[in-house]
Amino acid sequence: MQLESLNPANGELVGTVEITPVEAIPAIVATARSHQAQWAARSLEERAAILTTAAAELRDASGPIAELATDEMGKPLVEARGEVEYAVTSLVDDLPEMIAALSPEIRENETVRSTIYHDPFGVAACISPWNFPVLMPHEQVVPALIAGNVVILKPSEETPLVGQAYADALNRALPAGVLQVVHGGGEQGRALVAADVDLIVFTGSRAAGKHILAQASQHMKRVVLELGGKDPLIVLADADISAAAKFAARNSFRNAGQVCVSTERIYVDERIHDEFVDALRKAASKLTVANGRDHGARIGPMVNLRQKEHVQAQVASALHAGARQVWQGSAPDRGNFLAPSILTEVRDDMDIASEETFGPVACVMRFSDEDDAVKRANDTPFGLGAVVFGAPEHAAGVGRRLGAGMIGINQGLSSAGSTPWVGARESGYGFHSGPDGHRQFAQVRVVSEAKQP
Ligand code: NAD
Repeated sequence: MQLESLNPANGELVGTVEITPVEAIPAIVATARSHQAQWAARSLEERAAILTTAAAELRDASGPIAELATDEMGKPLVEARGEVEYAVTSLVDDLPEMIAALSPEIRENETVRSTIYHDPFGVAACISPWNFPVLMPHEQVVPALIAGNVVILKPSEETPLVGQAYADALNRALPAGVLQVVHGGGEQGRALVAADVDLIVFTGSRAAGKHILAQASQHMKRVVLELGGKDPLIVLADADISAAAKFAARNSFRNAGQVCVSTERIYVDERIHDEFVDALRKAASKLTVANGRDHGARIGPMVNLRQKEHVQAQVASALHAGARQVWQGSAPDRGNFLAPSILTEVRDDMDIASEETFGPVACVMRFSDEDDAVKRANDTPFGLGAVVFGAPEHAAGVGRRLGAGMIGINQGLSSAGSTPWVGARESGYGFHSGPDGHRQFAQVRVVSEAKQP
């Protein structure tokens, strides 16, 4: 059976792939396993050299892959190009750190010499979402491979062509059988989780993540789960209001709000509320909504009609319950386009303030008491990212009281490098990146031997 990939900007067919029958998945896993020992027998340096060649292949294919990303899920072409470029450069930059993190470590005292090894688990199933259709698979596949695992990638059913093109580029450098692709939706994902795999690397919704965790627990399969969020932004009275508003506009509307660390709740000190909302409106009105292929497009369409209707339903329910729409941008009246908007007088008990929106809506709430703002920002099962704008020391102090895994102070979440991408609470279970993240893709083993007297 064919999986049709449709362009969310105009409904046109981008292409098709063959859906992998679930009955075929055990044999695909068996093939992967038959190649694992040989892949793991290569040294870390050899695997890194092969992945460096793979990065060059990815760079060579980056133009068409970026265009496919825009056509399959709608993001502006300039962002799709940036995504592929980032994948290529981060791969090359991170390899030395990965080698260091996974190399054996020696501990010894007078009588014993212990070696800590970071061995591969075996077969890794990498199940990815559509919102960063290159980077999300990439951040799963590369650390799994460098650690000596073989990989079966299941890209999102929304972006199968990008997923296939990404794997094809890597496979021009990788030995046969080391990276395979399974196509389909949740059914194929569930079949992969149930198959004879050793490690499940999943990036996607909290609901699917919980299901995977429950399934994996039956055989104690290892998991790395990167899940959804409901990130707060706290704007303190001593914040640079213009900078906070520009950040809020960018981070609420980037990728049409379809980013796991989008700003989904904005808590503003009531003393600066009106000034902040004016500045936010000004910043937002500069963003053009258009087909991602159009020059100047900053916001594309929603990935599909279901996602668009989910956002519309949350907005309608919030307005019905007393929120005010103080600004709405314009958007093409076709495809899955959705005009971005700003809501004020949002309350924490509204759906739009508690469930992930994943759409171009900025929700502003007031606070009069800082402790109350911290309490409300933390009052969620999610814990992915959080941002605070304010006078530096003040904002940093408030930031340390937040329960998210990643916190930005007067900026987004970009870090100085070599740091984990990590969700707290129900936003994650395991993590990737940074030395500790690379080690999540490996089984730690300790061999201790008596020293000769
Ligand atoms: P999704 O959970 O619907 O699907 C993700 C992938 O899992 C897809 O490939 C899908 O086919 C598959 N799948 C669905 N149900 C499954 C199951 N029960 N078992 C196995 N596989 C299953 O998510 P989505 O709509 O593709 O992506 C959006 C979500 O991803 C949002 O919640 C977003 O916050 C999250 N996300 C998180 C991060 C992060 O780093 N924490 C990054 C990007 C996206």
